[in-house]
Amino acid sequence: MDNLTICDRCGSDACYVDEVNQDIKTYFCYGCGFQTNSLMVEDGEFLDQQKEVLPELYKDLFYEDKEGHIWMPSTVNIPTMGMVFANGTNADNWSWAAVKAVPVKEEEKEKYVRKDKTSYEYRMDMDTLKNYSEHDYMEALEYIGIFEKQN
Ligand SMILES: [Zn+2]
Repeated sequence: MDNLTICDRCGSDACYVDEVNQDIKTYFCYGCGFQTNSLMVEDGEFLDQQKEVLPELYKDLFYEDKEGHIWMPSTVNIPTMGMVFANGTNADNWSWAAVKAVPVKEEEKEKYVRKDKTSYEYRMDMDTLKNYSEHDYMEALEYIGIFEKQN
């Protein structure tokens, strides 16, 4: 069951809740770009695992809501469209970064190969990188074309 609710972090009404099962819910806020779930709690095993792999900036941006859920910035990575991720040095100095994916040209195919030697169809073009402030998260998603109709 999916629905929208008020975000416990930023207060926007664009927080998307997904009930994975009766114990676990995930929250993804389109207002601020942060996400959490029922397992993201202090001293929880899931959070400890996240801490091991997350960039310092993401950990710096952890936010604990009144129910004890820890929110962290989301990372969107769609190989054919682009990426949106938190970019910066610390919680006081960061923004969303959006990067578009572009088709790999025929003459570039040798440069963009997977481990199994086949070529990538798309690559992330860092020249397209654009920064967006925290509350312009939707615009960052829009920039990489997430809301465009896919046929
Ligand atoms: Zn929010």
